[in-house]
Amino acid sequence: MPVTLSARDVTFSYGKTEILKRVSAAISPGKLTALVGPNGSGKSTLLAALARFLSPSSGSVELDGRPILSQPTKAVARRLAILPQSPPLPEGITVFELVSRGRYPHSGLLGLWSAADLAAIDTAMGMTGVRDFADRPVSGLSGGQRQRCWIAMALAQETPVLLLDEPTSALDLRYQLEILALLKILSAQHGRTIVVALHDLNLAASHADHMIFFREGVVHGAGATRDVCTATMIEAVFDVAVDVLVDPSSGRQVFVPKLPDVGEGGRHG
Ligand code: ADP
Ligand code: MG
Repeated sequence: MPVTLSARDVTFSYGKTEILKRVSAAISPGKLTALVGPNGSGKSTLLAALARFLSPSSGSVELDGRPILSQPTKAVARRLAILPQSPPLPEGITVFELVSRGRYPHSGLLGLWSAADLAAIDTAMGMTGVRDFADRPVSGLSGGQRQRCWIAMALAQETPVLLLDEPTSALDLRYQLEILALLKILSAQHGRTIVVALHDLNLAASHADHMIFFREGVVHGAGATRDVCTATMIEAVFDVAVDVLVDPSSGRQVFVPKLPDVGEGGRHG
């Protein structure tokens, strides 16, 4: 049975400001779901609520049909991993050490690595292309390499559910595509349930099975990408006009924002 994750009527505030407003979302098991919306719309807050990092003021998040807040931390961490947007990097840590932290929920009393731990760490480093740096300090790597180490840590946790908050934002185009291709394989071939907050709409639309459009703490649309990712939805959620083109090689829809008129001399042709 796949692990199920859902939010029901989740409301959350910082002080008097409501950030999540009665958010309901059922995450599709075994699918790649992209969470998109403007900066400050509450994507990170929603992911944190789904991961049990914060408790809603009303409503609930359910993992396997039971309130996530009533489940022990380690039990949740064996089923759900989250990679936050800017996790603090422990000082002096090597790549191997960072990735191995993903094994914490599986560790026994002695804290020694089992063969299964070492295999999971090695596989995660291989999938993200960081195995060559295993013994180097993470702080000496480029932003993109570092980001791949964090992704490896989340993968090493070997959870059926994986939440990633803008995992591609520090990466150049090639690694953005590689990481999304990897997430796609993990869902399509390994049945992992993945929710990823993404900035790039076209990357989201071309990779995600499902999308959640989020604005000001409210779900504006959710469903299969081909149904929900439309020019009308994008315009409503991002306040930009878009044209829809069809990529001749793939037949996929590509969303192109219409540029604001910048006046004389700003644009030619
Ligand atoms: P997104 O990930 O979509 O950019 P966030 O979930 O990070 O949005 O933030 C949603 C809103 O909550 C923003 O207005 C942000 O300023 C506010 N916010 C986020 N974290 C905190 C915090 N720790 N204290 C107060 N306000 C916060
Ligand atoms: Mg965010």
